[in-house]
This record gives sequence, C-alpha cells and structure tokens, in this order.
Amino acid sequence: PPKRPATAHKETIKVIVRCRPMSQKEIEKGHQRIVTMDTKRGVVEVANPKDPDAPPKTFTFDAIYGENSKQMDLYYETFRDLIESVLNGFNGTIFAYGQTGTGKTFTMEGIRDNPELRGVIPNAIDHIYRHIANSTNQEYLVRASYLEIYQDSIRDLLDKDQKKRLDIRERPDTGVYVKDLTSFVTKSIDEILHVMQVGNANRSIGSTNMNEQSSRSHAIFMITVECAEPGPDGENHIRVGRLNLVDLAGSERNSKTGATGERFKEGIKINLSLSALGNVISALVDGKENSEVPYRDSKLTRLLKDSLGGNSKTVMVANIGPASYNYEETLSTLRYANRAK
Ligand code: ADP
Ligand code: MG
Repeated sequence: PPKRPATAHKETIKVIVRCRPMSQKEIEKGHQRIVTMDTKRGVVEVANPKDPDAPPKTFTFDAIYGENSKQMDLYYETFRDLIESVLNGFNGTIFAYGQTGTGKTFTMEGIRDNPELRGVIPNAIDHIYRHIANSTNQEYLVRASYLEIYQDSIRDLLDKDQKKRLDIRERPDTGVYVKDLTSFVTKSIDEILHVMQVGNANRSIGSTNMNEQSSRSHAIFMITVECAEPGPDGENHIRVGRLNLVDLAGSERNSKTGATGERFKEGIKINLSLSALGNVISALVDGKENSEVPYRDSKLTRLLKDSLGGNSKTVMVANIGPASYNYEETLSTLRYANRAK
C-alpha cells in the first residue's frame, strides 16, 4: 500500500491552546501577566519573568483562545465537527491537558446552571439529543460510561463497588473495551447528566480532598451513540460512534509540588501516561503506520486506541494560566502541545 503522507492526520487531530483569565486571587496578589496572545495569527508569547529583557518564547497554533473566549466559540469552532462525526458512526476524543487550576474541568464540564458557561460535555449532550429529536428515519441508542484511571488502574465511576479494578480487553470484532464496565442507556439530557453527576460524586470517594484526587487521575466520560437505519436493501444497518471526553490528570511536575514517597511515585505514573499520550499523538501526526504507534505504553492510550488515529477525530485543548509564577509549567504545556500538533 502507498505510504500515507506526513500530514495524514492534520485534519483529524487538532491541538488548541486556551488561556484562562487571571483569578481574583492572582489579581489581589499583584501577579504579573506573562502570556500574550494574538488570536488572529495563532501566536502565543510567554515572557520570562526573571529576565524581562529576554525575547519572549513564541509558539504558533491553528487556534488559540484568550481569556475572553466563550465556551460556545470553542464549541462551534472546534468541537462541533467531532460530535457530528460521532453521530455519523465514527469515534472521537476530546482531551483537556494542563497543570491543575488552568481550566481543564471548566473546558470539559464548565459551570452547571449557567448556559453560557457550560463546557463541552453538556454542549455535546445537547447536540446529540437535538440531533436525535430531529431525525426521522433512524433509531438511536445512547449509552454512557464513566471511568477513572488512577496510578494506571481503572475504576468504574458508575459502579456501586468502588473498590473493584477493571481490565482492558480487546476483541477482533468490537475492538478495545473495559471488561465489566457499567454502561447506562440514557433517553434524555437529564438522564445522562444525572449519570455524569453520579460519577463525579464517586470521583471524590477515597480521598479527603476532591481537588487533590481529581488532579491526579484521568477521568473519561464515554458516550456511545448507536444508530439503526434502514438501508436500500431494506435491512437495518447499524453504526456505532464513541465519544471520549477526557479530563486529564494535572501535568505539573514533581519538582514543583515537592512531592515525596507515594506522591512522588504517583507523579511519575502521571508523567509517564501523559508522555505516552504525547508520543501516540505525535506519531499519528507524523503519519506513522498503525503498527508503529506506541499505544501499548500506558492504560490511557491502550484504552483509547480505537479512538485515536484512523477515521477518528481528536481535539486536544492545552490549558494554561496567564500569571508569572506558572512560567515553567506554561512553557512545558505549550511545548507538549507544540509537539502534538
Ligand atoms: P483544572 O480542572 O485544570 O484544575 P478548573 O477548571 O477547576 O482547573 O479551573 C480553575 C478555576 O479557574 C475555576 O474556578 C474555574 O472556574 C476558573 N476558570 C478556568 N478557566 C476559565 C475561563 N476560561 N474563564 C473563566 N474562569 C475560568
Ligand atoms: Mg479539574
């Protein structure tokens, strides 16, 4: 077969950068802003707070979103096509990457009860159910699952038994799946949002501080959309699309958090899985053959193998903060994103 061109996945893998506004606390403390964005040209500049005379570090991306970006702008410009292709039977994955406190959960879930601040998950759910309500000739079945990968082990966030750990399996016909993972058939927006809330509540179990736990694990909310449609032969044809919505563990490094012991080991596992993800995405962007893509290097990439590359669409949102004390982490996130684009 002919080799795929090096840009084979340019269309299917998008990397965007989003910078959150200064927080009230950062403003009160008088933190300096070091990130400048030229959204028209897609250029992000980061000034070195220790050396103001040094030229800023410059990065260019297909799309960047500054502190005034609206959730709906991201949805229409970046996520909508991906959800549309899931409705057409393809797989899609959206990742939020970045150090803790930069807006990953804001981007994925947003603020409940405020339509303008809703994140991609509720907007995608809305999109899916609106599409279903407007369809005439098709029958749809929507299922939701929610899992967490913590220290490279998988926990079902919808199971009553939160002590159970699950395994990844693969079958030639249906591909990769998590054995015994709960999935709920949901018939409405409210039902699926309720499933998400149950999972969110379970995320905090086993930890004294929810934010601590959630910053150290990857959360994957999965929506499967099955569509049955009568074909020209009169037979029903079924297509299945899966949407993975991934709130990644915080990308901050150990040196910054000063972790030791268990925490240190935890940090190493997180860094390994985030770098495994970066390697997979960069291999796909480089147009590597499927056999050369290092999916096997982490649970995260093994699990998402069928949803990264091939006909799947992927969006990675790299989240950063504007303040000077995040200089090193901001650079590290932009470098990561730059490699993945
Ligand atoms: P993370 O999940 O990466 O740890 P969060 O999503 O919890 O970060 O965001 C940290 C704080 O910043 C939250 O209070 C959130 O509401 C706020 N925030 C993040 N991004 C934005 C944004 N683009 N606009 C307004 N507020 C934001
Ligand atoms: Mg979060």
